[in-house]
Amino acid sequence: MTPLELLDRATIHSIARHGKRLAIIALDGRCLVVQLGMSGQLIAGSDAHGSHQHVTWHVTKSKRGQGLGQPASIPLIFRDPRRFGGLTAYESTTSLYESWSAELGPDALTIQAQALRSAMTGARAVKVALLDQTIVAGVGNIYADESLHLAGIDPRMRCEQLSPKRVTALALAIRTILNRAIKHGGSTLRDYRSGLGVAGTAQALHAVYGRAGDPCGSCGELLHGTRLGGRATVWCRSCQPGVDSTGAVNRK
Ligand SMILES: [Zn+2]
Repeated sequence: MTPLELLDRATIHSIARHGKRLAIIALDGRCLVVQLGMSGQLIAGSDAHGSHQHVTWHVTKSKRGQGLGQPASIPLIFRDPRRFGGLTAYESTTSLYESWSAELGPDALTIQAQALRSAMTGARAVKVALLDQTIVAGVGNIYADESLHLAGIDPRMRCEQLSPKRVTALALAIRTILNRAIKHGGSTLRDYRSGLGVAGTAQALHAVYGRAGDPCGSCGELLHGTRLGGRATVWCRSCQPGVDSTGAVNRK
């Protein structure tokens, strides 16, 4: 990317986010989108890890924002240890929002039942559909499994088999699980850190993710693990009953 695309000498006007993408919008209209993906991080201040730093900006505070004894500039670091993230430049907010509406579904934090119902169609497994960012933006593997457990839905169930009532429960579960995770600073499994370099604690709340073979916290049955769409998937066969080809509820 060119220095211009990296917002060299720009004044930051605002920040916007949709799903796992974070946009830094400059006063002159330029936008830089940080795709956080699985492990991308924007860290303000020094980075204790010091590795996998791809870009470092030096951000100068406005005169009004400078307190006595505070440094006039702080480093803002983009690091992406697992390289699932990236940076994309846009010339204007118009092109930014056009790309978001073309490539991303409704944001997971505020997903409503009706929007989810119209997007969750076809024969795909519900877990696979949930990971598709064009259906709902912002759900990754951990929170897909956790949301499906909270909603009591078998991850292998086909979208077309979901009753409207189940989709409504799923939308509520996604909002609940994600908001709770944010409140706890996110899930730190390996290298995730917040923007201030702090590890999250939401992993302690995981009911199913990473717990295959453990007893389900709700019913005591051993949690079942498999791979769906190439991703590790864990669920409880008792709390999350599937359906057979006739649509009848199948508890095992
Ligand atoms: Zn259970």
